[in-house]
Amino acid sequence: MSSKEIDKIVSDFSRFYILTILYEGPQHGYSVISKFRKRIGKEISPSLVYPFLSQLEKKGLVRHLLKPVGEKKRKVFELTEKGKELCKALFKRFSALVSVAIEPNLEVCASCGCKVYEGGHREVIDGKEMTFCCVHCAASYKGEASRKSALRER
Ligand SMILES: [Zn+2]
Repeated sequence: MSSKEIDKIVSDFSRFYILTILYEGPQHGYSVISKFRKRIGKEISPSLVYPFLSQLEKKGLVRHLLKPVGEKKRKVFELTEKGKELCKALFKRFSALVSVAIEPNLEVCASCGCKVYEGGHREVIDGKEMTFCCVHCAASYKGEASRKSALRER
């Protein structure tokens, strides 16, 4: 699927998010709506959700099954293989976008140089707070530093 086609289908964040919900597994229309509300903290109109689902269905990206719920039968929507492919392409694109925004805030382990996404290990060494990915890196950094200063003193 070309990126132009993807753009035509997913023109805004709400639609993108509906796809991420479908990607988790088969869903009733109303569970798409309630998950959206819970996670985004915003109402989404059924008049956006249902036409979008049927648009996806027409394009062969989604199919539905009828599942009995009490007396009634309800539609359960699920992504087809083609739909899953579309999602993967979207997620890839989205993560590239997001990483541009996140990268400058990333810290780098002072010992091994790997990126520290969250938490990590902080230690004050020679009066300076340093960030490491883990305690082991901190220990090896300290070992290195004391070896260096021992050499200098010699
Ligand atoms: Zn490290």
